Amino acid sequence: MIISEHELRANWNKIKSATMTIPQGSIVTPSARDFLRSQGIQIQYDKVPDGKAKWEMPPVAGQTPRFPQEEEPKPEHMTHLRGKQLIFKTHPVIAWRGQLDQFACDLVETQTLLVKAGETKLAAQLEEVALLAQKVMAAEVKQEGIAFGTVLGWTAEQIRDMSHYPQKYFGTPHTAMSYQDGWLIARLNSLRSKIREVELSANRAFTAEDGTCSRSDIILILNRLSSLFYVLGCKRRREQLKSKQLPIGISNRHVHLSQAHLEKLFGTGYLLHKQKDLSQPGQFAAQESVMLAGPKGRIENVRILGPVRPDTQVEVSVTDCFTLGIRPAVRDSGQIEGTSGITLTGPAGSIELAQGVIVAARHIHLHPDQAEAWNIKDGQRVNATVESERSAIFQDVLVRVSPHFKGELHLDTDEANAALVKPDTQCVILEV
Ligand SMILES: [Zn+2]
Repeated sequence: MIISEHELRANWNKIKSATMTIPQGSIVTPSARDFLRSQGIQIQYDKVPDGKAKWEMPPVAGQTPRFPQEEEPKPEHMTHLRGKQLIFKTHPVIAWRGQLDQFACDLVETQTLLVKAGETKLAAQLEEVALLAQKVMAAEVKQEGIAFGTVLGWTAEQIRDMSHYPQKYFGTPHTAMSYQDGWLIARLNSLRSKIREVELSANRAFTAEDGTCSRSDIILILNRLSSLFYVLGCKRRREQLKSKQLPIGISNRHVHLSQAHLEKLFGTGYLLHKQKDLSQPGQFAAQESVMLAGPKGRIENVRILGPVRPDTQVEVSVTDCFTLGIRPAVRDSGQIEGTSGITLTGPAGSIELAQGVIVAARHIHLHPDQAEAWNIKDGQRVNATVESERSAIFQDVLVRVSPHFKGELHLDTDEANAALVKPDTQCVILEV
């Protein structure tokens, strides 16, 4: 047996005595002899021929290490496991170290991207993970135990619990990955998957054939880190959703009247009477209503919304168009060129509109402060998801920004019914 300095140190550290017993017939390498001299240690050979001295070799799964002579050059296909212990590069522990190294690289790459995107807080938080990965590597090389402690202020148990119950902690269920969650969550998912590979590789390296695991401490850390990335993804997803969340207003059929048309329907000098304020400041539902009559049918008690406007406009759903027998024209408010006409009847008379019936295009009202915070411009079109029992994504939603507005998605009754929108149902603006 050849005894290297590494072996000698490992055994001497256990006994720290001035005399060491080594197996009979052992050869001590020159550097090991230097160590003996520097520490003033005497060696004696074990008398028992089969070497029953208390001499332990560090355990290595899968392969038997060998210890080269000092002068022997290291073959390229071999590497050092610990100290001078040479093994093949395909050794499972070496493969595991490579995986952990790859993870560390991916992590740093992500951190640089985060910093570039102004996400410095998350980049700094991930540095805790980077340091823990380094400690895991060192603990394995030095054959020392390692504990999880806390990462981002969470214990291993807390992370496990959060990853199992994201709904409880973040108000978001277990969700499949989606490009719509954005690049940052995609990156966190990549890291989760990568550290999981590192964990599997650790299982191959440290679990013996009989199932005993020599580094369950390392495997626990890797497992919790994978949960941590999942938790960070859930947390982030919720923050993103919450940040662009809006209430939904449902527009039932209604009429905006010009003052001239109001007087024709209700009498000279007539003024609207407010019944209730609407969610958009200054807008109100009037007590007055009119009847709509088209080629095929009529709809009574259609609410008038105030205040009066320069042009009369009738807003109905597609279903209403079928009832009335008119062609539906989906338009942004005010765009009445080329739309169908209709007959309006009030208590004082009727008017025949040549045009002015629209199916109002779905739209979002935003205050400028909100628009700026979300980086959305007036006139932009976005997609919005409605979170309900019958959730739906609405595309091409026009955003209108004005200091007179407050944030709200406006759908008509057909759209709201299609997505089973209830009074407290929220929508979320998706990345576009
Ligand atoms: Zn509106």
